[in-house]
Amino acid sequence: MRIGIVGGSGRMGQMLIREVLGNKAATLSGATERPGSAAIGRDLGTLIGADPVGVVITDDPAALFANSDAVIDFTAPAATVAHAALAVQHGTALIVGTTGLSPDDHAKLAEAGTKAPLVVAANFSLGVTLLAGLVRKVAATLGDDWDIEIVEMHHRHKVDAPSGTALALGQAAASGRGVALADVKDAVRDGHTGARTVGDIGFATLRGGDVVGDHTVIFATEAERLELSHKAGSRAIFARGAVRAALWAAGKAPGVYSMDDVLGL
Ligand code: NAD
Repeated sequence: MRIGIVGGSGRMGQMLIREVLGNKAATLSGATERPGSAAIGRDLGTLIGADPVGVVITDDPAALFANSDAVIDFTAPAATVAHAALAVQHGTALIVGTTGLSPDDHAKLAEAGTKAPLVVAANFSLGVTLLAGLVRKVAATLGDDWDIEIVEMHHRHKVDAPSGTALALGQAAASGRGVALADVKDAVRDGHTGARTVGDIGFATLRGGDVVGDHTVIFATEAERLELSHKAGSRAIFARGAVRAALWAAGKAPGVYSMDDVLGL
């Protein structure tokens, strides 16, 4: 199974190169970076502090898609949309970890999913995939006299907020309640906000240091509070999940799949 990595010198890109090189079921077909990146021309092995592997980073994604059964993409929204078109053109499976995608970006991925297999997840960890299922179940069980608040913390370099995972957990809670997240989302509170609106799902964003990703979903009512938490200790958990998704998706029928599908949940 030939797996390619786009955005190979990013924080996740390097983790993904390490994970593919260490997986006996996979061959690393190559990696790309954005044009002008200082990483272009560097050996993928030395880039991650290992022995050279004789394959260098390029800025030619079309060649990478042509030579891969699956490509893993943890880059940026505009790049991911362009990569989805290449996945369609070459019949390559695409694993999308990029967050901060707009509704328009998601529509473009859905369109690509009619012609190629895509796995899209805001969080590729097993723990968060299970957490989303628990949140959906708890939200379906409790009435809207239980307020739902989602708190997340990430490292200081993260550029989108709330995190894709926090939004996915909000989606899970909203679907448990049978409402659309867009109708109940309350992501910004500042100044004289007035009292909390019944049924809203609130988000709080913390940024600092090197935190890989902490998420807590709080269900709060009079005199009782239930908190469901996940803490990521290493980016390796996302890379491991994404490689598992790539091995699963290559050769599948077109569609936009989730980690629930990959894990058979
Ligand atoms: P990063 O900035 O360290 O890495 C992104 C890399 O993509 C950079 O090296 C950048 O140069 C490269 N890139 C940008 N445009 C490109 C293009 N057109 N072609 C090739 N490469 C390109 O960021 P990161 O921390 O690795 O995170 C990347 C994305 O993954 C973010 O959206 C983040 O939120 C998301 N993420 C998702 C999960 C998950 O489980 N789904 C986990 C961690 C991070």
